[in-house]
Amino acid sequence: MRMRGAMKLSARAADLAPRLLDNAAQVDCDGRFPTQEFAWLQQQGLLNSGVVQLPAAEILEILWHVGRGNLAVGRLYEGHINALQLISWFGDQKQRERLFADADDGNLFAVWNTQAGDGVVLNQSENGWQMSGAKTFCSGAGHVTRPIVTGSLNSSGWQMVCLPVEEAVLEIDSSWWQPMGMRASASFKTNFSGSFVSSNDFIGKSDDYYSQPAFSGGAIRFCAVQLGGAAAIFDETRRFLREVGRAEDPFQESRIGQMAMRIQSGRQWLKNAAEMWESLGESPLKVGDTTAKRMVAFAAMMRIATEEICEAVMQFAERSVGARGLMRTEPFERMIRDLTMYLKQPHLDEIPGRVGKFTLESELESYSLWQSTETEILNATE
Ligand SMILES: Cc1cc2nc3c(=O)[nH]c(=O)nc-3n(C[C@H](O)[C@H](O)[C@H](O)COP(=O)(O)OP(=O)(O)OC[C@H]3O[C@@H](n4cnc5c(N)ncnc54)[C@H](O)[C@@H]3O)c2cc1C
Repeated sequence: MRMRGAMKLSARAADLAPRLLDNAAQVDCDGRFPTQEFAWLQQQGLLNSGVVQLPAAEILEILWHVGRGNLAVGRLYEGHINALQLISWFGDQKQRERLFADADDGNLFAVWNTQAGDGVVLNQSENGWQMSGAKTFCSGAGHVTRPIVTGSLNSSGWQMVCLPVEEAVLEIDSSWWQPMGMRASASFKTNFSGSFVSSNDFIGKSDDYYSQPAFSGGAIRFCAVQLGGAAAIFDETRRFLREVGRAEDPFQESRIGQMAMRIQSGRQWLKNAAEMWESLGESPLKVGDTTAKRMVAFAAMMRIATEEICEAVMQFAERSVGARGLMRTEPFERMIRDLTMYLKQPHLDEIPGRVGKFTLESELESYSLWQSTETEILNATE
């Protein structure tokens, strides 16, 4: 059941954003994890499992505000939400009850899928399934207690495992994480060799992780966080220009106008993304083929737009604040590093083509390309 009409958690996230922003410079260090920030999120009920039952507009709004406060916190929080969504879609009843209770008790979740040549393999043994290999970019490693780790199952598919870390053997290499930005996301390399899991820890069946439109459509979540980061740069640029007495200048006004237009465009993308996600109904697993393809193509469009918006906003901000504003006593240097790093997500080159393919295959006129039809909705609910 959806929690429509329940208290507005997005308003709590909006209130929290300035606190996250104030503390962001303190936690911007290699190896640091934003412990205090996650205590605040928990106090506000933002880590509870109920968040994933909220309407998409509310979830995206929360992600946007957390990103507005601190992008590293936003990345970690997005992983938590992603994991809870995967459990809600693919977990069985018992797993949902157990793991949602864990979330409500304050366990932090994540999704660790990215790997290099030494990736994770699951092999059956007398003691259960033995894990071997490592994941790169494990955001929150050492602090996340319920990561969903993906691995190759008998070399025949890609299996999600929700790993109870207190029972696992993790070798965390924090020295691997020496990034340009997003330092406080603690995205370390982690080796799982020697850990055993049971099939009760398997979430869904082999290759469910890549089910569409859940997999690619889920990009709207990180777009929301990134757009929040761009909005923070916009707000800080206005604050800076006022403080240094440079607000009343036609060039600055023009740049701020260009930024405002892009931030509002980002807000429109969020609104449309929420509508598109809501059109999938109760679960993204029960939609027809055209609806799934439309969601995937839409999320791809939103990724392109988000990247353009964020890059333009960063460039206008840099020009507006100049060298004086790019000193580390101001937040711009960190914010730009964080957003630049976070924008680097997989398959950026491919996604315009995905949008093109969907629109070329569709006979619909441009005005109705992104709307679901009644026939599709009827077919999907049959
Ligand atoms: C802050 C942060 C936190 C993250 N946290 C997590 C996490 O918690 N869990 C997780 O699973 N992942 C995480 N990731 C990883 C993320 O999801 C992406 O996998 C990662 O950012 C990929 O970025 P990349 O630019 O290195 O991609 P790449 O795929 O390496 O792309 C870089 C460039 O190489 C090109 N390229 C790709 N493949 C080839 C090829 N075979 N030949 C030639 N060119 C190629 C691409 O087109 C692109 O131009 C995180 C990333 C960041 C930045």
